[in-house]
Amino acid sequence: METKVLLPTQKNIETVGDALRDGALVGIPTETVYGLAANALDGSAVKRIFEAKGRPADNPLIVHISDVSQIDRFHLVTEIPDSAKKLMDAFWPGPLTIIMKKGDVPDEVTAGLDTVAVRFPSHPVTKRIITAADVPLAAPSANTSGKPSPTAARHVFHDMDGKIPYIVDGGACEVGVESTVITVAGATPCLLRPGGVTLEQLENVIGHVEVADAVLHQLKEGQTAASPGMKYKHYAPSAHITLIRSSDEKYIEYVNDRAESGAAALCYDEDEPKLSVKTYPYGGRSDFDAQANRIFDVLRRIDEDGVETVYGRCPDTSGKAMAVYNRLIRAAGFEVIELA
Ligand code: AMP
Ligand code: MG
Repeated sequence: METKVLLPTQKNIETVGDALRDGALVGIPTETVYGLAANALDGSAVKRIFEAKGRPADNPLIVHISDVSQIDRFHLVTEIPDSAKKLMDAFWPGPLTIIMKKGDVPDEVTAGLDTVAVRFPSHPVTKRIITAADVPLAAPSANTSGKPSPTAARHVFHDMDGKIPYIVDGGACEVGVESTVITVAGATPCLLRPGGVTLEQLENVIGHVEVADAVLHQLKEGQTAASPGMKYKHYAPSAHITLIRSSDEKYIEYVNDRAESGAAALCYDEDEPKLSVKTYPYGGRSDFDAQANRIFDVLRRIDEDGVETVYGRCPDTSGKAMAVYNRLIRAAGFEVIELA
């Protein structure tokens, strides 16, 4: 199959809208990362997303809408709890996915769970594509499963060339990490995945929010993940990444001591001039927006350059940096060295 990369002209949006409604898979831009979309009401189309990505069948997908009224129109959930209404008012359209009790959604989308994840993206092109398709779109990130998520159309082409008919190029993704995922299906709201909307912002709107164990820690053997996606090795380039938690000076000293080995540094922007190895800066130390925006592109470049060993600065866990930490700690297989 030839994979065409299309600009978001009105004619092209109508072409992919029709194709989606008829069961095709399409790479679509969103403000978080690029998605691999299918008609969420068509179980067999959704099944092909899992095949194209090599995604484990027990990892459910997010259903994307372009208007809140579509939740009722397509009976996606059994009810919208008050906390969900408040979150929608505060953060939609935007990078927040809300999990509620499932309505009429095919089992392929929810991996057989009795809950469904719903998001209303803010990217204007995403909204136009969903509106043109006139059906909700099930979409995970458009990467090969386990690899860094795509934040540009060329990343999607790299992973999906020959597997899908269309990719819509909407430019680089602004947020750069996947949406925040919160469940309101249980007694207490619980953060399942950190993203563009921070824990602090969520708590400002609905009060206390629990944080699932898998967000910041490696699950112990036998422990089940509240969000199935969090249990898999994730976001990982082929390179071996080790994170270093230390002062600036200790990090620079540790990495420069290993310059002979050909190792590279996944560093803060400020570290770059002091390092004597190849550097992959992923943002300023306190610029969490830039870190989120750049991290996946940097991880992909590490692979393109064939780097084998990488020492990375361990990100902060506050604010939006929690999302960067959550991704990088998985890219590093939870390997962290503490230097006192
Ligand atoms: P992706 O679309 O690739 O960003 O992955 C979607 C994420 O949302 C994965 O981590 C899923 O495990 C999670 N997710 C989707 N639906 C549910 C659900 N019903 N319950 C818990 N987690 C979910
Ligand atoms: Mg993903």
